[in-house]
Amino acid sequence: MTASLTDTRSAELYRRSLERLPGGVNSPVRAMRAIGRDPIFIDRGAGAELFDVDGNRFVDYVCSWGPLIHGHAHPLVLEAIERAAAKGTSFGAPTAGELELASEVARRMDGVEMLRMTSSGTEASMTAIRLARAATGREPILKFAGAYHGHVDGLLAQAGSGLATQALPSSPGVPASAAAATIVVPWNDPDALTQATESHQLAAILAEPLPANMGLVSPSAGFLELLRERADATGALLVLDEVISGFRVAAGGAQELMGVRADLTIMGKILGGGLPAAALGGRAELMRMLAPAGHVYQAGTLSGNPLAVAAGLATLELLDEPAYLRLGAYTERLAEGLRDVAAEHGHAVQVASVPGLLTVFFSERPVTSFEDACGCDLDAYAAWCRGLLSRGVYPPASQFEAWFPSLAHTQEQLEHTLAAAAAAFASLPEPGTRP
Ligand SMILES: *Cc1c(COP(=O)(O)O)cnc(C)c1O
Repeated sequence: MTASLTDTRSAELYRRSLERLPGGVNSPVRAMRAIGRDPIFIDRGAGAELFDVDGNRFVDYVCSWGPLIHGHAHPLVLEAIERAAAKGTSFGAPTAGELELASEVARRMDGVEMLRMTSSGTEASMTAIRLARAATGREPILKFAGAYHGHVDGLLAQAGSGLATQALPSSPGVPASAAAATIVVPWNDPDALTQATESHQLAAILAEPLPANMGLVSPSAGFLELLRERADATGALLVLDEVISGFRVAAGGAQELMGVRADLTIMGKILGGGLPAAALGGRAELMRMLAPAGHVYQAGTLSGNPLAVAAGLATLELLDEPAYLRLGAYTERLAEGLRDVAAEHGHAVQVASVPGLLTVFFSERPVTSFEDACGCDLDAYAAWCRGLLSRGVYPPASQFEAWFPSLAHTQEQLEHTLAAAAAAFASLPEPGTRP
């Protein structure tokens, strides 16, 4: 089913894009298939608002899937990019900005003494695994069901049921051998984790400390501490993927917020301030294994790109303590408001939230695992999202994603969002009457 009119500019661009771009898009979730409609082509963004090519205006809760913590086209970020661009866009030689950005990251993240930049989170994940394998002399990697670490072959593996299983590839084209070195364990399952760390000689335990790619599913009490303990007890490295949580939930990311320290940290999204940048960071002793300091090969033509570094630095400079308090307060008011309007209209939803992130699960019970997330009423989420879009609010077009409130969101936009959410809930079929 499709909710789009066929005579809009978006519809026309989509029809033509389908002939030139697989699925009409350059990254799958943009196609909005999970909520049963066609994609919306964007003309421009300003602050917390998006304007599409048909002149429709939306309060944006995707914000480029995380990077735009200051909203679209922030004047200080644009100015930094313009200043950098005027001096040339890429040199393939080191610049002072890279040192400055690495120093700023080290100042914020306790466990990060050195940084290697890449252009995408996927590359940073790939590098983290290579480095962990080199450092430990082991191959198997443990990841959690429902966690996303980019489209790295071996990390697309999905869970078998229940206990840790040898994973099967979850995309055609992934070699069985790449997936075979990945052990998938259910999130928030201490017994499965302990058993897997005892039965495999792991190079790394890889986790999103605040998983946000199955919707936001926070760790249960003690679970992150158990990751650290199991890594220490078995000689595996703890690799925390803070591509989303880094610089968002606190200045020092989830590791600061939750008091756990990784051996290697993967960063991205906010780090590039809306331009392509990501990084791997950790203790100097480990990071010096990367070429040319060490023998673990890793490289990138546009790594540490001057424009991306400038945007990242400008973005981080604006992220002071008051900013985090403001973002946390907005997120909390939004989460509370969504719970209230859902309850008013008799819909059972769970609004999971941490500062700067939230997910609306259509579920009677709290969602603590990928299995729980898969068991939600995805059709109701889809219908509700279509209802939001038709009322000028742009949510993530999948329940398996987080909402990204920004520092540009205003009280007025909050009120508009909650009114649209209430109307969208009211237009859903009565709970229990869906076929
Ligand atoms: C987005 C994301 C990635 C991948 O980053 P890309 O820049 O899209 O390659 C990796 N890990 C997490 C947790 C992410 O959210």
